[in-house]
Amino acid sequence: MNTTNTSTPSTRKIVRMLKSSKKISKLIPWYMLKAKINEYIPWKKSAWITSSLPVELLWGFDIFPLHPENNACVSGARKVSLDLIEYAESLGFCRDVCSYMKTNVGAYDKKISIKMGGIAKPDFVVTAGTICDTHVKWFQTQARRMNVPIYVFDVPHIVNHTSESTKKRYKDYVISQIYDFFDFMEDTIGKKMNEKKMLKTWENSRSLSDLWQKIYEYRKKIPTPVGYADTLGDIFPLVLLPGIKKGIKYFEDLLKEVEDYVALGKGILPKEEEKYRLMFEGIPMWYRIKFFHQLMNYGAIVTYEPYTFSFGPSRPYVDNLEDGLKVMADRMMYQPYIYNLSDRIAYFKDIIENYQIDGVLLHENMSCRPSCTGMYDLKQKIQQDLGIPVLLFTCDMNDPRAYAEEQMQTRIESFIEVLEQSKSKRLNS
Ligand code: SF4
Repeated sequence: MNTTNTSTPSTRKIVRMLKSSKKISKLIPWYMLKAKINEYIPWKKSAWITSSLPVELLWGFDIFPLHPENNACVSGARKVSLDLIEYAESLGFCRDVCSYMKTNVGAYDKKISIKMGGIAKPDFVVTAGTICDTHVKWFQTQARRMNVPIYVFDVPHIVNHTSESTKKRYKDYVISQIYDFFDFMEDTIGKKMNEKKMLKTWENSRSLSDLWQKIYEYRKKIPTPVGYADTLGDIFPLVLLPGIKKGIKYFEDLLKEVEDYVALGKGILPKEEEKYRLMFEGIPMWYRIKFFHQLMNYGAIVTYEPYTFSFGPSRPYVDNLEDGLKVMADRMMYQPYIYNLSDRIAYFKDIIENYQIDGVLLHENMSCRPSCTGMYDLKQKIQQDLGIPVLLFTCDMNDPRAYAEEQMQTRIESFIEVLEQSKSKRLNS
């Protein structure tokens, strides 16, 4: 573990994370450079894909996937997102349009460097409106501006009272679109689906998810061997590397270090310093990753995030195309971000119990409607039903104009006091 102490109490910056997590700082530039080089090799094809779609559908065709949301996170973390967002706004994209989208528009047009979140031009783009309609409009806009083909999956939403027979019809509908996508690939890119290769890709993806699930199991330990400062970076291999060996290797190394920690009873924070275990709902503020390190100064550590967990769900072994497509369709249809409120509350209760959560942070994200919806109801239910303190705060994932430094500091300090009182009350009851 790397620990760097650069200052004093409430504002001091202490960086605590696993050594293996730091490998991400080399893995991302390696990947993006490969994408850039592929641009100049005619037979190498790449595609942009949105987060609700299984990237294995591209790896199975030997298409190099790029994930604009991921590149946007890099721009946020490198603190160049504001400049890109303002550029997009100068073109007419309004203030409350998704800040990832505006970052992508700016990054692509301005041809910023890979290190800062720059992204290569794809041969085509593929998207779906599963999580949000912005994905479709965003990719439609960029496909037009870049003059490349687009494929859009139409994934029906499961809501309260969707019957089992309707769910089955939805699933058949999604599977029929995957077959249609295979035709699109042949017509547009000239590549036929190879069942053997697709099955191999799915098996690699299953191995990666298994590792991720194991890592999450270990997060239940007290003290936790994995904090949010670690899992933040894991978004990249979770969304882009399922299906290839490189991702498996990354998570094998991470798991090994986590197991070593657990064997020694070590945590990201020493046991006596881990006072409050938190759940974080929403997308992090990429330009303010320091926020998570500062929480640790108060003995508060994030031990569960639906955001990172949802990208590596467990999946069954499949040995034929038909079963594999059913698994793909399920993944496209069942995403925590589109759970209805009652399912979401049940999900939260389960996590709070199993991960021994003391408090919940809810990020009401100004430019991401799916991340805002239901936050107030969630807050009320968690507080009322479980007696767990909740801090609901309004910011934005990539637009630093939405982050009020002093106000956030004050709110964190008050929340820590509430956590302390609530924990003592629960321990004494
Ligand atoms: S609005 Fe939210 S869910 Fe939609 S693309 Fe932007 S960040 Fe993703």
